[in-house]
Amino acid sequence: GSTIGIIGGGQLGRMSAMAAAKLGYRVHILNPAPSSPAIEVSASVTVGSFDDEAALEEFASLCDVITFEFENISAQGLELLERLKPVRPAGQVLKISQDRILEKQSLEGIGVSVAPWKQVSSSHNLLALEEDIGFPLILKTTRFGYDGKGQFRVNNAEELRALTDLPYPLIAEKKIDFQRELSVMVVRGVDGTVRCFDAVENRHRDGILDITLAPAPVTPEIAQRAQDIATKIATRFDLVGILGVEFFQDAKGDLLVNEIAPRPHNSGHWTMDACLIDQFEMHIRAVTGIFLPTARRHSDAIMHNLIGPKDMEKVPSLLKKEGVSVHLYGKKEARPRRKMGHVNTIYPYGALPGELGLSQLSPDLL
Ligand code: ATP
Ligand code: MG
Ligand code: MG
Repeated sequence: GSTIGIIGGGQLGRMSAMAAAKLGYRVHILNPAPSSPAIEVSASVTVGSFDDEAALEEFASLCDVITFEFENISAQGLELLERLKPVRPAGQVLKISQDRILEKQSLEGIGVSVAPWKQVSSSHNLLALEEDIGFPLILKTTRFGYDGKGQFRVNNAEELRALTDLPYPLIAEKKIDFQRELSVMVVRGVDGTVRCFDAVENRHRDGILDITLAPAPVTPEIAQRAQDIATKIATRFDLVGILGVEFFQDAKGDLLVNEIAPRPHNSGHWTMDACLIDQFEMHIRAVTGIFLPTARRHSDAIMHNLIGPKDMEKVPSLLKKEGVSVHLYGKKEARPRRKMGHVNTIYPYGALPGELGLSQLSPDLL
């Protein structure tokens, strides 16, 4: 059988490796630490930094195709890998998602709407933001942000003037007064086949994804529009593999793309129990060039993340509940804000309560 190389050793790699094993593939991981969630379920590992040429070369020599669970590989690293083995998705797609400026420009370049934004390369441009964007606005580091890290919310000119020692370069975005956040997982095969999972709603707590509602409680038109945008991005960016597209549904009902992630995504974890073929298997099928079935949902689902030590205390009782599927990542230490696992609660297709019911249910569903 052939070997799939996965760059990164976290939980997304772990679940990708489990899907690969299901299809009979070997998995080889590249990770800086010798033990990690993905390594525990994989055949072998190269221990080395993502920017270490020797490690990348050894890793590539042991794989037939290379994919990612972590997208922040340097441009040089990506070029090196692409010289050695098929890299899916291609380095160019990763480069776009690594840099919020290039990401916004690339999305606008294909006619996809994003929140009004402005590049902020030094404190020099800062005060003009009142005029250019208006308040409230959000400053974000252009690279390496996740779970809301590297973000600064600015409500007025006074707060803007008070900001010092910011980690430039930054991007300023208008804070969107959204009705809800949505996402779509889109997968595209080597032959150009595109499949979209259903649009879902995501709710965050402290900047971290908390719950996903599948399907999103939106009209079929909105859900279809989200899938159409995701399909356009996958096609125009020549994606091979899976990609998460995050949206804001603004006050008018319009969809704006927040960001994209060219890998399996936390907001796609519901598919593990509500779809015959989940996001991880779809990704593995895409990067290995095998058939992509329809991304059909057979059940409704609510996904809850298990974050930090508090949520881990709930695991014993969650394991005793009917209709609940618990997924744990095997992380040794449950630090605050750390994603330890997730839980999918499954409902019959079409049964998920409407929006009113959900807003009453969601805070303490677990
Ligand atoms: P992750 O990669 O973990 O999803 P991130 O650190 O890359 O997170 P974003 O997705 O850009 O950050 O932002 C995190 C959350 O902050 C969003 O899901 C949304 O709730 C809020 N947010 C970000 N940008 C905006 C915006 N322009 N307007 C309103 N809310 C925003
Ligand atoms: Mg992000
Ligand atoms: Mg995000």
